[in-house]
Amino acid sequence: MNTSDSHLGEETARKLVDIESKERLTSNSIGVLCDQPKLLKEYLDSSIANTFSELMFRLTHEIYTEEKATALWHQIVLNRKNLKEQVGRDMGMLVAALDYLSNISRDISSPKIMEDLRIEEAAAMATRDSLTGLYLRGVFEFSLERMVQEHRRYGKALSVILLDIDDFKQVNDYYGHQVGDDVLLRIGEMVLNSIRKADFPARYGGEEIAIIFPETSIVQATVMADRLREDVRRCFAVGEPTITVSIGVSCIHVPDTTTASELVRQADKALYEAKRTGKDKVVRCA
Ligand code: GH3
Ligand code: MG
Ligand code: MG
Repeated sequence: MNTSDSHLGEETARKLVDIESKERLTSNSIGVLCDQPKLLKEYLDSSIANTFSELMFRLTHEIYTEEKATALWHQIVLNRKNLKEQVGRDMGMLVAALDYLSNISRDISSPKIMEDLRIEEAAAMATRDSLTGLYLRGVFEFSLERMVQEHRRYGKALSVILLDIDDFKQVNDYYGHQVGDDVLLRIGEMVLNSIRKADFPARYGGEEIAIIFPETSIVQATVMADRLREDVRRCFAVGEPTITVSIGVSCIHVPDTTTASELVRQADKALYEAKRTGKDKVVRCA
């Protein structure tokens, strides 16, 4: 910590924070903030009292705006997944962050990654849905955008499926919300166990699941979707609620699926078609 900073008054420190907080505070101003515990607390409580800034602060001791922190966080999550694929095992959030910040983004010249025992727990909370264990929609959207760009660049296929539980409202009404929750939990578990490491599963909405299948044609994705549809049926025994799902499939090789959002929109259209034509089926966009 720079000792001369400690003599700066609170007002000067506050101005410094205002100027620099547009992007990220430098370690110099963190020094200033650390010398002003009241101001540091106030800063943490207000502008970065949001999840991603706080997580990034915990990881690196750098303060970022929420927007920058969210982008970095999602990149690190994606990097953790890529590392897992390359190495064959989960290297954890700290390693993924260090690798991303020092080798990939080079955003920070010498990142100081903090050992925080609770970071894995916090990471799971900020990245995964607590009921199903699937990724949250925000992480999905962020990752899809990047994966679409990458696949386009290399001319590879990438497919997305949108799965929606059929007549789920009736399940809740008949068996109760708790049983409904259990159905969601088991389907989430089943999805996590049946997809490949490279695939990206997310809870897209209340009873909707989206999965990204990298390097997968629409034909292959349709086969996987149909296998999932049958697995869901088999997941529930006699005496339990009968659960079926409808699935829409789209692929970046299909005309008009030029962006990530268009890709999801096309899958949604196919899903709507599956619902309209009788449910418990897979429809792929034309
Ligand atoms: P469709 O076949 O057309 O998809 O009909 P549906 O009843 O599944 O669809 P609808 O959109 O009418 O209802 C969705 C239901 O999903 C209503 C909502 O209460 C339930 N739901 C959403 N999230 C949860 C959850 O976390 N737990 C439980 N138990 N139910 C949920
Ligand atoms: Mg729905
Ligand atoms: Mg439904």
